[in-house]
Amino acid sequence: MSFHEMICEAENANEVLFVCSDDSCGRRVVVGKSRPRLTVIDRGDFSARHVGSLGGISIEGVDVS
Ligand SMILES: [Zn+2]
Repeated sequence: MSFHEMICEAENANEVLFVCSDDSCGRRVVVGKSRPRLTVIDRGDFSARHVGSLGGISIEGVDVS
């Protein structure tokens, strides 16, 4: 199983947009800040495990859609 790293591309007061750093994947998710909530925008390569974090917001497990 391959690992992809999610990086923060944009954020506002309530949500953070993460995109996969792998160009061939293109996974994008929005993670809520105040409470754990995950919205998948683009599924990308769902066979890979996606991990990432931003300032205490862990999105390990974002492969769960
Ligand atoms: Zn990916």
